[in-house]
Amino acid sequence: MLHVNENYSRIKPTYLFAEIAHRVAAHQQAHPDAKVIRLGIGDVTEPLAPSVIAALHKAVDDEADRSAFHGYGPEQGYAFLRERIAEVDFRARGLEVSADEILVSDGAKCDCGNIQELFAGDVRIAVGDPVYPVYVDTNVMAGRHDIQLLPCTAANGFVPGPEGCTADIVYLCYPNNPTGATATKAQLQAWVDWANDRKALILFDAAYEAFIRDPTIPHSIYECAGARTCAIEIRSFSKTAGFTGIRLGYTVVPDGLVAYAADGSAVPLRPMWTRRQTTKFNGASYLTQRGAEAVYTPEGQRETRATIDFYLGNAKLVREALAAAGYAVTGGTDSPYVWVDVKGDSWAFFDRLLAEANVVTTPGAGFGREGEGYIRISAFNSRENVLEAIERMKKVL
Ligand code: PLP
Repeated sequence: MLHVNENYSRIKPTYLFAEIAHRVAAHQQAHPDAKVIRLGIGDVTEPLAPSVIAALHKAVDDEADRSAFHGYGPEQGYAFLRERIAEVDFRARGLEVSADEILVSDGAKCDCGNIQELFAGDVRIAVGDPVYPVYVDTNVMAGRHDIQLLPCTAANGFVPGPEGCTADIVYLCYPNNPTGATATKAQLQAWVDWANDRKALILFDAAYEAFIRDPTIPHSIYECAGARTCAIEIRSFSKTAGFTGIRLGYTVVPDGLVAYAADGSAVPLRPMWTRRQTTKFNGASYLTQRGAEAVYTPEGQRETRATIDFYLGNAKLVREALAAAGYAVTGGTDSPYVWVDVKGDSWAFFDRLLAEANVVTTPGAGFGREGEGYIRISAFNSRENVLEAIERMKKVL
């Protein structure tokens, strides 16, 4: 008889966005003329940067030309892109990361989910609560059910410290989804010191790094002393350059970063991750990598920064409107997400905004127990829609 992987039955159903979609559909059916504005799901709304579009067109022309055609590429990503990433994202900030240490993929979600394959079944995992669900679900699928939840609350500014964390691997994400919180260098340094002391690992998700404007907030875990011996960093072009539809991300595994075999010997992680990727992944597309290369040109940097500034402008408007209405808000300054303390049931608040303002948000309870009492409002929409949503919310609140 064929048996299933029982671990799948232990994953929480993907209830959140399905339930939101269900409630929005019911509302629209009951009110067919209502103009619903969606500030819920975290997908970008602005088109790609002109320099990226030009590079994508050029890459299509390459594929139409026998002499410039590219078939399978290197599984780790093309050198032309890995070099630019190393130069612009790291070396220009004074950080020691080489092109060899960067493995390009088709998005951060896959890397966040797949990286756990490198570790033993019994390693202990810690995540924030509330949390981006991928970290938890992929470990549960692999049979790791005993996951330590680190409460992210108003009391700790939504940034838990390592005190009392007994895990072997901790997932950290700053700027955070869903809370929009950012971590200071001292807060990240405390985690790095903890990890080096314990021979533990930090999986640092920097998907929202490009939203940081405060010059004191670290963009990379490698800004902390000692991070190269205890941290893997995962990045995405999704929110940085609007690649949610065309897909690209990368993971940095520093030279010399190790985990341990049962006999205590050190095992370098980059060859393992390279082996995993070359075995199970055939490389991100040539087209997308040429598009990403254009992000690193001066025009690409200017254009993508302008788009993020636009979203940050939306976030500021939402944040200020909710604060003026008397709500405690986090995020929305170096992040596209505003996390609002609704002083009550998060689904009831969601329903109220949907019913009375025709505005879709995300109830915090969907991201974990500590998310109850909050909603996440995303800044990804047109200015016109954000302003209208704010006016409507102000009337209701
Ligand atoms: N990490 C976090 C925290 C995210 O919020 C998201 C997307 O919403 C991702 C990773 C996934 O990024 P990608 O689109 O590159 O798969």
